[in-house]
Amino acid sequence: DIQSVDVLIIGAGASGLFCAIEAAKRGRNVLVVDHANKAGKKILMSGGGRCNFTNMDVTPAHYLSQNPHFVRSALSRYSQWDFIGLVCQHEVAYHERDHGQLFCDNNSKDILNLLLSELKTAGAQLQLNTKIESVEKKDGLFLLQSSSGVIQAQSLVVATGGLSIPTMGASDFGYKIAQQFGHSLVEYRASLVPFTWNTADKQSWSELSGLSQTVTVSTESGQAFHLDALITHRGLSGPAMLQISNYWQPGEALFIDWLPSIEIEVEIQQARHQQGKKQLKNFLTGFMPTRLAEHFCALWQLEKLLADLTKDDVATIKSQLHQWCFKPGGTEGYRTAEVTLGGVSTEQVSSKTMQSQLCENLYLIGEVLDVTGHLGGYNFQWAWSSGWAAGQEC
Ligand code: FAD
Repeated sequence: DIQSVDVLIIGAGASGLFCAIEAAKRGRNVLVVDHANKAGKKILMSGGGRCNFTNMDVTPAHYLSQNPHFVRSALSRYSQWDFIGLVCQHEVAYHERDHGQLFCDNNSKDILNLLLSELKTAGAQLQLNTKIESVEKKDGLFLLQSSSGVIQAQSLVVATGGLSIPTMGASDFGYKIAQQFGHSLVEYRASLVPFTWNTADKQSWSELSGLSQTVTVSTESGQAFHLDALITHRGLSGPAMLQISNYWQPGEALFIDWLPSIEIEVEIQQARHQQGKKQLKNFLTGFMPTRLAEHFCALWQLEKLLADLTKDDVATIKSQLHQWCFKPGGTEGYRTAEVTLGGVSTEQVSSKTMQSQLCENLYLIGEVLDVTGHLGGYNFQWAWSSGWAAGQEC
């Protein structure tokens, strides 16, 4: 008993659902399967429950890929404005936060409901709790063995996402299918992820857990972000750290400017004339949380009055506050990562249609590809844009 469809989409996440809607609108007979018991689980947990569904400022510069031009076509064919239009059409209430990020006013569910309602209107079928066991191509058709029988399809769309949050149904199945049809993989790892302390820093720093500070964090190669950092029990988190994790290479150091909006040596020179009797610690609390100021003074063993600081002391303070060298022990990994950096190489994939150049009628969309956005709604926009592009063709 073979189930036969025009288009089979593996993965009922952001990109798979969007592709299904578009393909079904063209009159294609579309089936979306997912091994999970619910569609769009990551959409539901995204953006702290409010789904940061896109960004006002989407450009290729917000994406990482071995081919930085790959995202261009799809992002311009289906842009953030198109998605915002759809959100308005469904009367989903949303608001803009810092850096152009758009979030639902109420709940991520609003975005999932929008997709499921479009899916229904377009007439695509959704089948959950269905595990695909194997895929082969025979006489121009894809034949898939699934936990609920054999499925035959003219077009196959791989929308299985990345490896983050394994408890939400993430799997490497998409990478395996891509490889089976001759695609190469770009080395992948957890990204948009908090860093962990190395053993030397852990003891003293983890006591500061809960503190946050606006910093500029940079990599050895000079990529930098000016955002909030959060000290946690396990390491450093917050938007600054998540953003830089896309650019950090394991083993590398990061440089943190704890006071990016001032020049500490200038402030010290000025203050020591008027407030020479002030403790360094008390002076620093003018710029950072008290516990952090106390921590630094203890670390440098500088329990001194401003007037007593030597030239060397000031040089130490300057380098430690403006260019603190942080050697992460590692990252928290896929357990808490928002995305997978790397994935199926875009080299043998059409940037216009997402169709494989190695296997006719095979499409790859969303996070399974070697395309990773910055934090801020860029990953969902990639899911919408790439899903839309494939949906016009598959
Ligand atoms: P997914 O949405 O992950 O969907 C993949 C689907 O494939 C899943 O339903 C999975 O069950 C299914 N699947 C996997 N393997 C198989 C298999 N073998 N058989 C059948 N089905 C399979 N991005 C933003 O832009 N804004 C945010 O606010 C945001 N917040 C996030 C918060 C968290 C906690 C996480 C983890 C991610 C967040 N992201 C956010 C990233 C965003 O969720 C992803 O980039 C996006 O969901 C990728 O879409 P996708 O369709 O490629 O994959």
